[in-house]
Amino acid sequence: MENLYCLRCNRELESGNKSVAVYMFTQTVGIRPRQKSAAKRICFCPQCAVSLAMGPPPEGALNLAAWEMIRELVSSDPALNEAAWEALRGITGLLSGGGENGARRAVGGYLEF
Ligand SMILES: [Zn+2]
Repeated sequence: MENLYCLRCNRELESGNKSVAVYMFTQTVGIRPRQKSAAKRICFCPQCAVSLAMGPPPEGALNLAAWEMIRELVSSDPALNEAAWEALRGITGLLSGGGENGARRAVGGYLEF
């Protein structure tokens, strides 16, 4: 299976990793023969998905459409936030040597920006 990368931070997303996928394809409408592009899968790691959703609206109509969809996911259920939280705890755990207080401080900092 191909390895995917987060479009925003370029983190490698191994199969089984939690992520948000945006599927995109184009097709002609009302034109014969109907033409379809290949479907493209764009991935975001949970941290980037949450960070994008919390951030200001991007420029560009397509970016805005994707942003609105990601916001819908992030706001409809805390599971994605929790996935971002877990991943970040893992990273800060590695950096700080796994201290419980260190992890909690770092998570607070993450939510501040
Ligand atoms: Zn990312």
